Amino acid sequence: MNSHLRKDILSSNWVIVSNDREFRPNEYRAKIKCPFCPGNEKETPPAICELKDLKGWYIRVVPNKYPALTLENKNFQESEGLNKKFYVKGHHEVIIEDRNHFKKINEIKHLDKVLEIYALRMKELYSLKNVKYVMLFRNYGQNAGASLIHPHSQIISMPLLPLRVSDELKHFKTYHLKNKKCAMCDILSDEKKFKKRIIFENSHFVAFAPFASRFNFEIWVSPVNHEPDFYKETEFKKLSEALKNVFSKLHYSIKDLSYNMIIHTAPSGEKKFHWHIEILPKIAMPAGFEWGSGFYINSLSPERISEILNKGIKFRY
Ligand SMILES: [Zn+2]
Ligand SMILES: [Zn+2]
Repeated sequence: MNSHLRKDILSSNWVIVSNDREFRPNEYRAKIKCPFCPGNEKETPPAICELKDLKGWYIRVVPNKYPALTLENKNFQESEGLNKKFYVKGHHEVIIEDRNHFKKINEIKHLDKVLEIYALRMKELYSLKNVKYVMLFRNYGQNAGASLIHPHSQIISMPLLPLRVSDELKHFKTYHLKNKKCAMCDILSDEKKFKKRIIFENSHFVAFAPFASRFNFEIWVSPVNHEPDFYKETEFKKLSEALKNVFSKLHYSIKDLSYNMIIHTAPSGEKKFHWHIEILPKIAMPAGFEWGSGFYINSLSPERISEILNKGIKFRY
């Protein structure tokens, strides 16, 4: 059965059913030959693009061997009573960010180039027909759902807006209608004014623990100047400086850090959106109350997080 989408009738939830992903290698469960290490290039589909130096490639983009969405699908629906299966086209790529298997993101020397490749791939996918949204994310560590240690990110294009993004877009639009301004521009200027939750800032970016953080150590990074689309960004050196600072602090304060990092960029053509990166460390898992209510209980205030990270306090959990 090819991967396809299913919609839950009692909620706004979409589910991607993708049986093939069951066979993904998992380095945390068994010893495997890393498909992303130099010398093992045959283990992945042929590269979409590579950046090279004298020693060979140092960034490599490949199609995901176990895609959540594939190009092989023809767009069609299959009905089963009330329920429908939506077979849709999508892309699923992997960006291998360094040759070294064990590098943490803040240790990648050419992180600015990695960010530039993120933007290039995102731009290319947005230029294709039927692409409504392009999501770029990085899973790091066993508790964040990563299956391989080797530094990498993933990029998925889809023909519909994911729930979380359409909800965020709705809030950007409502705020704009009321205030004639962008919500994120206002949030950033408040954070800079009150200086209670800032983790790092330079001339172009602010990294802060958001006021209503859902998770312990949740951090957002956003450009000071209004820009809806991540792929139009050009200040990759400044952004890499911000990310290296944030992740050095997180890795210092939290032992065995696991996290998800997600780039929230505007859906195709939307101007009332302000791109930002969400970093979501996995420390406490959502539990019964969270699943039942949609509320989050956060045991550490974002003000305390900024103190822990900025003073270099070791966090015990
Ligand atoms: Zn490797
Ligand atoms: Zn803005």
